Amino acid sequence: MTDIVSPETRSRMMSGIKGRDTQPEIQIRKILSVVGYRYRIGNKKLPGKPDITLAKYKAVIFVEGCFWHGHEDCALFRIPKSRVEFWKKKIAGNILRDRKNRRLLSKDGWRICTVWECALKGKDKLDTEKVERSIIEWILNGKKTKNIRGRKLSKR
Ligand SMILES: [Zn+2]
Repeated sequence: MTDIVSPETRSRMMSGIKGRDTQPEIQIRKILSVVGYRYRIGNKKLPGKPDITLAKYKAVIFVEGCFWHGHEDCALFRIPKSRVEFWKKKIAGNILRDRKNRRLLSKDGWRICTVWECALKGKDKLDTEKVERSIIEWILNGKKTKNIRGRKLSKR
């Protein structure tokens, strides 16, 4: 079986989405810094290593890459045309792991906000101001979970 996704392409996909200091994450940090919230980055002690932890508000924020986390109905999530089974399995595994981590976090009383990459970049992205407002509102309103995603368009 030939591997059509070249190693270069794959590493570009990975570096674009995985790891610290991806651009969307920096955007979120800027938002929090502007309003003066204290946060911690990549807390290894918590399940799933949340990107941002606001201990005072018992809140964590995940900034998720739509591809790796299999974002439903999202233009940034498409299974590559080659090695379809491999990717399906890989992404399904990531989704399961995400769910498990979130369960553990909420059992421990953490509130969880997910900011999807598509809310911050690509053609469906939201106004930065809107994202900013949603995050701050959520931090303060005490709700358990919050999901911030790009505009959902009709079926494509
Ligand atoms: Zn998305």
